[in-house]
Amino acid sequence: MNEFAEIKESNKKLLNSQIINGEHEITAFPYQMFIDPSNICNLKCPFCANFLKRHNYSNEKTNPIMPFQTFVKLIDEIGPYLIQVVFGDKSEPLLNKEIYKMIAYAKKYGIHCQMSTNFNLFRKEHAEELMNSGLDSIIVGLEGTTQESYSRYRVGGDFNRVIENIKIVVETKKRMRRYIPSIQWAYVVFQHNENEIKAAEKMSKKLGVNGFRWIPGDIYDFKINYKNWLPKNEKYTKYRVYKSGKDVRIVHLDGPSCVQTDIKNLKVPCITPFVTVSVDANGDIFPCINGDLRESRGFGNISEMSFKEIWNNRHYKEMRQFLITGKNLTGNPIYCERCYTAKKTDIVFTE
Ligand code: SF4
Repeated sequence: MNEFAEIKESNKKLLNSQIINGEHEITAFPYQMFIDPSNICNLKCPFCANFLKRHNYSNEKTNPIMPFQTFVKLIDEIGPYLIQVVFGDKSEPLLNKEIYKMIAYAKKYGIHCQMSTNFNLFRKEHAEELMNSGLDSIIVGLEGTTQESYSRYRVGGDFNRVIENIKIVVETKKRMRRYIPSIQWAYVVFQHNENEIKAAEKMSKKLGVNGFRWIPGDIYDFKINYKNWLPKNEKYTKYRVYKSGKDVRIVHLDGPSCVQTDIKNLKVPCITPFVTVSVDANGDIFPCINGDLRESRGFGNISEMSFKEIWNNRHYKEMRQFLITGKNLTGNPIYCERCYTAKKTDIVFTE
């Protein structure tokens, strides 16, 4: 048990009770953080918020690489309360050369550290540094079993390089007698790769990967692309398409599922801005990982003020109030109003 375990546990209990009581001003801290150590990516995946320039990091004036000191400032303030940090949210974390230093720093606060990566940029000479950082798990985004199917979505990616990198980590773990990081293969399913899921899972076992998971792909632009991308097998998609002549209605089967909760009979439709925080490389703080939100500069910048000042500012309170009451009480624009998770509205258009 780490020295911060009690603080983390009581913070989570307090947070849960504040959610149950419908409080929009939260004295507890978030227990999960999604952070982008870089705001850029080496690939051009068609439905990524980064590639679609939904992020404010398409603005060249913002810093595309998080300085280590910005990370330290944030972690020193909220690290004792955080249970998990996910490095790599809407961009490639390995583009920040200090990534392993950041992970090692977060580990000092007893935080479970996960890295989500396309794993193209990893090299053998980084293997021991990765191992010594204390990283708990690597999520490798890898779809397909050949370069051809892989690069339909991971545009610019090198399938063989990723497989080689997985082998390097598996071998280094064996050589250094380590159980972590666990390697998880995340397979985003689209129409062109739905027939390769079983073969990919078999390949993952042969490689010695610890887990394999398929994830229904997000389709951001239904008006143009859905016929080419939506899997034929309904099992692999979170959308249902209903057509009447030229009129199309798209129904989501679920919303973003980044947040797990053990709260029973939860009354708010989304607890994301209560329990998580999402941070860009330039230090901008966002209440959730929703790509559309990233059109803005976020709710505040960690280099300019403390996290505590941002966490209960007007933007946060208005958003939480909307989720608690279902009403926009101030008339100011609130992102949740156009998010499926809160509103459960369908996408309707004419072809
Ligand atoms: S925009 Fe609002 S409702 Fe949608 S996921 Fe984010 S916090 Fe939740």
